[in-house]
Amino acid sequence: MPLAPAMVQFNVESDGKRENIMSEAHNLEAFRTSVREWLASNFPENLVGFSMGMEGSANALHESDLELWRQRLAEKGWGAPTWPVIYGGAGLSHPQAKALGQEMGKIGAFNPIPILAGMGVTMVGPTVLEYGTDDQKARHLPGIASGAIRWCLGLSEPNAGSDLASLATKAVDQGDCFMVNGQKVWTSGADISQWCGAVVRTDPSAKKRDGISFVMLPMNQAGVETRPIKLISGVSPFCETFFNDARVEKTDLLGDLNDGWSVVKRLLQHERQSQTSARSAVSAEKESLPAMAMRYAGTDAEGKLADADLRTRMVRHLMAEQAHGLTVSRITAEAKGKVEVSAAASILKNSATAISQSKSELTLEFMGSQGLGWQGEQFAEEELSTVRDWLWGKAISIYGGSYEVQNNIISKNILGLPETTQKG
Ligand SMILES: Cc1cc2nc3c(=O)[nH]c(=O)nc-3n(C[C@H](O)[C@H](O)[C@H](O)COP(=O)(O)OP(=O)(O)OC[C@H]3O[C@@H](n4cnc5c(N)ncnc54)[C@H](O)[C@@H]3O)c2cc1C
Repeated sequence: MPLAPAMVQFNVESDGKRENIMSEAHNLEAFRTSVREWLASNFPENLVGFSMGMEGSANALHESDLELWRQRLAEKGWGAPTWPVIYGGAGLSHPQAKALGQEMGKIGAFNPIPILAGMGVTMVGPTVLEYGTDDQKARHLPGIASGAIRWCLGLSEPNAGSDLASLATKAVDQGDCFMVNGQKVWTSGADISQWCGAVVRTDPSAKKRDGISFVMLPMNQAGVETRPIKLISGVSPFCETFFNDARVEKTDLLGDLNDGWSVVKRLLQHERQSQTSARSAVSAEKESLPAMAMRYAGTDAEGKLADADLRTRMVRHLMAEQAHGLTVSRITAEAKGKVEVSAAASILKNSATAISQSKSELTLEFMGSQGLGWQGEQFAEEELSTVRDWLWGKAISIYGGSYEVQNNIISKNILGLPETTQKG
């Protein structure tokens, strides 16, 4: 019968697949067990529940433990676990890296290296892995993967934000090096970084996107000056950065000369990819949002959240959050754990942004006047941090490309609609 061989073949194939899946699951479980054992004897107890500041600073009580923890993680390559071992990573698969994060979360442990390395682990490193020469990878990646070297990103300028291709900072060829002059703005962590990934104009006569290059610039030199800018939430995460005859070695040009637009587009996709998980309005979520809402706004006779309108918006928010989480899981599963970056990151960034901001809005609303405090004993810690989170949350729809700019990318690169802005 003609059908039989095909049926037999199908069964063999599916049996093989099933075996593969089962052996992968078995390996993952064994990996989890080894992670749990290692964490039990290596994560400093003093750091349980410790929450790192944006700059990765720690108080005296935690400083030495944090440094010890950084070194132990770096030795394992678990600061940037999916990177190749020769560049300071551990060569883990994405499911293994996810399991590592989950096991850390279970005991109150965390990976401080992506914060200590600034823009290094999430953005510069993956871009160097893709565009860098072997020499660049060997010189720059291990410092990032160990969290010893912090990177900032010099993209935006006073007259070039969303329209980044209008940038005016110039790099002039001096034979063995480039001399950089100009100003960047909103440079996160510039005052505490050792290196900067910057986009600069190397051919002023070319069309604006064609004359740009991506350079890696050492911050510790006389030609670099940084001035911190204070934010409405009280923190000062970024700077104005001035380049005045700052020197960049020719060996630190990333990608081809005048092809920096391709490099930075890829880097920005990595940035958006890293921003696809919805942030929480209250840092340590010991209590669920609905439970907290009921505590503040009260319940009706049936035990439901008392305010019917707030209840409806809460349900809408929880559904959007759940749908976002499931979509991220589906995309990861479809990519078989590989997690490719693409224009789709713009969709997820916008949906994560909307969810985070609506969570902050809802939290402030049910807290009522307790959600208006800036300081003072009458306010609980969670109330003060909610206000700061709400103010800080305004930035999410701006950094990494604004909400509107992501919509432009979605319309052009995903929906195939004609470009209507940013010609040139
Ligand atoms: C917390 C934070 C950290 C940051 N860190 C860095 C960093 O480390 N390095 C760095 O280089 N930059 C950084 N930035 C800057 C960020 O990338 C820019 O703020 C962002 O690209 C927007 O540029 P802009 O501020 O010049 O606003 P503009 O480009 O002037 O935009 C103003 C408004 O116009 C809208 N708009 C602009 N163009 C269009 C268009 N074509 N279609 C529709 N609407 C449009 C925007 O959506 C926005 O609402 C950071 C920003 C923030 C808030």
